[in-house]
Formats: sequence, structure tokens, C-alpha cells
Amino acid sequence: MQELHIPEGINYECTGCGKCCTGWTVPMTPQDHKRISAVDWGAESERYAGRKLFRLLKDYEKAGTPYSHAICPGDDGFCPFLVDNLCYIHGQYGGAFKPSMCQLFPYCFNETPSGVYATVSFVSMGVVYNSGKALAEQKELLEQKLELFRRMYPGHHPNWSRLQLAVGRPMSWDQYLEHEKQLLAFLNDRTLPIEERMLKGSQYLVSQLGAPQAVQLGPEAAALNKLDRHLLTALHRMYFPARPLGKGECDFNIWRFAYQFLYQGARIAFPDRSFTFEELHGFPWPSGDADIEDLLYRYFFSRIFGKLYFGAGFGQLSLLTGFHHLILTLALIKLQAKAWAKSRGAPRVSMVDMVATIRELEKRLGESRLGGWEAGAWELFLQSPMRARRLLAYA
Ligand code: SF4
Repeated sequence: MQELHIPEGINYECTGCGKCCTGWTVPMTPQDHKRISAVDWGAESERYAGRKLFRLLKDYEKAGTPYSHAICPGDDGFCPFLVDNLCYIHGQYGGAFKPSMCQLFPYCFNETPSGVYATVSFVSMGVVYNSGKALAEQKELLEQKLELFRRMYPGHHPNWSRLQLAVGRPMSWDQYLEHEKQLLAFLNDRTLPIEERMLKGSQYLVSQLGAPQAVQLGPEAAALNKLDRHLLTALHRMYFPARPLGKGECDFNIWRFAYQFLYQGARIAFPDRSFTFEELHGFPWPSGDADIEDLLYRYFFSRIFGKLYFGAGFGQLSLLTGFHHLILTLALIKLQAKAWAKSRGAPRVSMVDMVATIRELEKRLGESRLGGWEAGAWELFLQSPMRARRLLAYA
């Protein structure tokens, strides 16, 4: 049995808001589909009479997943089984009858050479607000969820053998664990703003390459260059799409990126309008807001603790590039939250903007895949600590 590692300081309890049951495809394994579609839902409730409730997943949707079908959302985008903010399937037949994904949500697991690391998805409102009991006090439940996860993903044995600190700098798992300890120690230093804590992590990793460079955040940071702007634009389009993404648009594509770099402008797109980087840069950020700082801390802590940002945890990226991608996502979070606040006419970013932003990012990160060519391009673009510094100073 592998050791199950549970993060400290992360709580979860379902708040019953029903928001997890909208905004994404609810997938079903062949067993889920067989079990749930065998019920005559039209006879159970009039609301389901004559209604198409399930659909086959398209080939590109099911590639590399254990799923075959999905629940068709209603016109309002919600799962049709959500009734008065409660799951109708659960109410009628019990929790174990629901689609496996709904039983597992929001718990996530990542198998590594030193055991399985548990985290929770920040799509859940309960997780975003850190409600309920600490995960550390839910060990028994987490073990049951891990069993379910193993049944759902029997082939989940990520390959952690090709670890690199940076391109061409192999790293052992034990070395990684030492680096992680340092990254988490910087992140945990609540006396500094989160941007500086992340940049200290970047500086530490660069120093491990034997080429220390000063990475300080300040008003003197250089302005964004063309590549910075296009990277932010391309990743913003992927993680915060202003319209539903079509086939092939969900992931980073190097050819599309090259075309956009050469022929298109760089702006932050938002439904019905777009923003220049200058407009968003000038919009006030609530530095020192304890709730926002805490949410950002928990979000980045979870990704690092769960090893969901480098190696087999994310696109086989080197540790340095994976960490710089986290820094880029922090810049995107700030830009998107400012765009939310501006679009609703608020004078500054508040938790409402942050919650919408973090939930959307978490959803899209869970759905995005990074191919070999694209990962190679990211290694090229994201190794630079100075780029990481510019992105954060300008967000
Ligand atoms: S099946 Fe139930 S838990 Fe799953 S998305 Fe629908 S309402 Fe929510």
C-alpha cells in the first residue's frame, strides 16, 4: 500500500450550492451509463419525460479517459438531475448510484514515487471558501475516495522517471522533494505578498542551476515585451475563454500561437469586450486583502503539494518551467479578476471576482492537455526568471 499524503490547512465540506453541477460536461464510464440509463427517468419524474438525458462522447472527448458518455445539460447549462440544489439520482438511489465522477468530486489524487498525494478541486465552492472539516481529519473518507479513484483510473501510474530541474538538468525524486520543501517554505511566508513569495521560489530554482540571478519585484520591472503579451493572450484564451471553445481549441497549439504572434494583436478578451494590458495594469489590486491572499495561497499550495504542475503532473515540464507556468497563471488570475471587476463597474477586485476566476481556471486546467511540441515551446518561453518577474509586475 502506498502512503496517502493529505495536505494541512485545506478544508472541504459540500455547501449544497449546486454550482459544481453546471458549466462542464458530466462524464460517465460505460458502467455508470449502463446503471443510470437503465432507469426509466421519465416514469420517475415528469420533468424527464421525452427528454434526451445522455449522449455519447465524441472521440476527441473520450481519448485517454475512462468515459464513454455524458449527461446532456439543460438549456440553463445545469445538469438535469440537479433539482432544488440537490442531486435527484442521489436522492432516489443513493450516492453510490451517481456517476463515478460525481462520487469522486472534488477529491483528486496523484500517484508518485513517495506515495499518493490528495488534493481537492477549486471548482468546488466549498473548497474555494475552505469550508468544513480539515482534509487531515477526513482520512477514512479520503481512503475510500482513493479506492474509487483507483477503480476509475486503473491505468493511473504516472511516469516520474524523466524528471528535470530545467532542460538538460536531470533531477532525482528525492532532489525534487527537497526543492518542494523550499518552494513551500517561501510560499508559506505570509509576511510577503504572494507575488514576492512566488518570485523567491523562482530565484531559488534558478540558483540551483548554479546561475543565481536577482529576481526582485518592483516598479522598476521592465514592461512586457511582445512575446510576454502573446503568451499571456494565448494562455488567457485557453484558460478563460470568452466564448465556448471548439474542437482543437482547448489546448495550446504552437502553430496557432505562431500565427497569432505574427498577425494578431495581444489583448485580454472578455465576453462582449476586450482589455489592453495597460488598462488592466492600471486597475487597483487589493494588496493585503487577507481573504484573497489566503485563497491564492491555498490554490498554489494545493498545486505544488499535489505535484500537479510539472513532470508527470503537468505535461512532463521541467520543474523550473512548471513553476514559471504557475507564476504565469498567477498573472492571469490577477488580469482576469480585474477584468471581472471592471466589467461589473466595481472600483476594485473583490472575492466575487476571485472566486469566478479561480473556479474557471481550475476547470480549464483540468481539461487542458500539453503535447510534446507544445511542452518544448513552453520550456523555451518559460525558463526565464526575468519573464516571470515581468509578468507578475505587470499583472
Ligand atoms: S448527477 Fe447529480 S451530482 Fe452529478 S452533476 Fe448531476 S446533479 Fe450534480
